[in-house]
Order: sequence, then structure tokens, then C-alpha cells
Amino acid sequence: MRVLVLGGTTEARQLAGLLAGDDRFRATLSLAGRTRDPAPQPLPTRIGGFGGVAGLADYLRAEGVRAVIDATHPFAAQISVNAEAACAAAHVPLVVLTRRPWTAGAGDDWRVVPTMAAAAQALAGLPDTVFLTVGRQELEPFLAMDRRFLVRAVDPPDVLPAGAVLVLDRGPYTAAGEMDLMRAHGVGTLVTKNSGGDATAAKLQAARSLGLPVVMVDRPAAGTAPRLYSASDAVAWLAAHGTSAE
Ligand code: NAP
Repeated sequence: MRVLVLGGTTEARQLAGLLAGDDRFRATLSLAGRTRDPAPQPLPTRIGGFGGVAGLADYLRAEGVRAVIDATHPFAAQISVNAEAACAAAHVPLVVLTRRPWTAGAGDDWRVVPTMAAAAQALAGLPDTVFLTVGRQELEPFLAMDRRFLVRAVDPPDVLPAGAVLVLDRGPYTAAGEMDLMRAHGVGTLVTKNSGGDATAAKLQAARSLGLPVVMVDRPAAGTAPRLYSASDAVAWLAAHGTSAE
């Protein structure tokens, strides 16, 4: 069965590993091409946009794709909207493989905001240094702010707030390592998207231990496709829901 996995996440790479060893499926992994040096992938990989809904629907038809798994990041909203529309147009079943969002627990001091612009506004009255772990393409609302910033990203951002200290790293991280980093840079506030998952959750444990406020950017609205939370569930779904070739 021809399968398309929309990727760019740890979950997509885990799924790719399962599909690569399963001869029921002939899967292709699709990456947007944002990361300059993407990790090696266990599946044949195509890189770059499809050209909107019409381009993705054309791709599905041309390649005879029988099922799509949207394993993109919870904040990659456009490709998920496009996948729903393109799969509907091409009559291809679609499922979303994602991470459960993080939730605040005892000892957490979260300020939940709907957008990155609202996160920048929520910094009023919160202490420096502000640790931005929001992705290198989300820094725009912070550029003109007269604050002390520590920015962490996988690849170097094109622009940084004036005087910001940049750390390049892709994780996974430990709570002890995150606490050391936050202490070393005098971090007073953490800003993050609610990406969920284990690989980057250590910063939240560290913020809790250090008693730091967290400005948490909420997820964009989800679509209507069914949602799964493990790669093995996605394989089971494929076996049950993919349409076989005529
Ligand atoms: P986005 O805003 O949802 O998508 C913008 C456009 O990029 C899409 O319309 C599509 O172009 C193309 N695209 C996105 N994901 C693609 C994929 N897997 N394969 C082929 N084309 C793709 O996406 P984004 O937020 O920029 O994220 C880009 C990629 O980085 C995604 O694959 C995502 O999983 C990964 N990522 C995102 C974040 C985040 O916080 N946003 C974090 C970690 C990883 P066309 O319309 O031309 O098809």
C-alpha cells in the first residue's frame, strides 16, 4: 500500500522506522525542508512544499497514495489544514499522529496565551532573562523589545532580538541540564509553545524546580481528522483504514 507520511517530527521518524521494516506498506516521508541538516530517515524522503491543497491532491493521485498520516508538528497548522482538504478531494483516508499537550501541574506558574504576539505582551512585569524556546521562525514579536533574551533553536535564526544570547541545540534535554543552562544565563521567565511530548519537556520541570513563570503559547485549533498518539497505533490504523490499490 502506498502511504504518505507528512513529517518533520520525532513521531514521524519513529513511524518511518516502523514502516521501513513492514512490507505491507510502501511509504514516503515528506519534509518541508526547513531544517538545514535533517536527521537521517529510514524511509525514502521527498523534501519541499506540494504547492497548496491542489498540489498535494495532485501528488496523492499521481503517486497512487492510499493513506496519509499527518505526523507534522502541532504548530504546523497550514500543512494540516491542507492535508484535510487534499485528502477529502482525492478520497484518501487521513489520520493525525501527534503528541498530547503538556498540562500544568502542582508548582507550575503558567500564563497561557493564544499566540506568539500575546506571549510577547504577557512578558510585561515578568523577570529577565527571558528564555525563548519557540522556534527560529517565531521571534518576530520579540525583536523590538528592550529585554534580555536567551534564544535556543536548532538552526541559527535569520534575525535575533538585539543583544540576545543564542544557543544552538536540538535536544533531547534533561531537567538537570536545563536547570544548569537557566541558572548560567540568569533566566527569570520561560516562553514556549505547547508542543507536548517528552523530548523537550525537561525545560518545564526545570522552570518548576526553579520557581520560574512560564508563558505557554496554546496550540492552534485542530482539524476534524482522527488523532492518534503512538506510532504503533498509526501502523494499526493504516492496516485497518488504508484503501487497497485496484
Ligand atoms: P506550516 O506553516 O503548517 O506549512 C507551511 C507550508 O510548508 C505548507 O503549506 C507546505 O507547503 C509546507 N510544508 C509544511 N510541512 C510540510 C511537510 N511535512 N512536507 C511538505 N511540505 C510541508 O509548517 P511549519 O510550521 O512551517 O512547519 C514546517 C515543518 O517543520 C513541518 O513539517 C513541521 O512538522 C516541522 N516542525 C514545525 C514546528 C513548528 O513549531 N511549526 C516545530 C518542529 C517541526 P505547500 O503548501 O507548498 O505544500
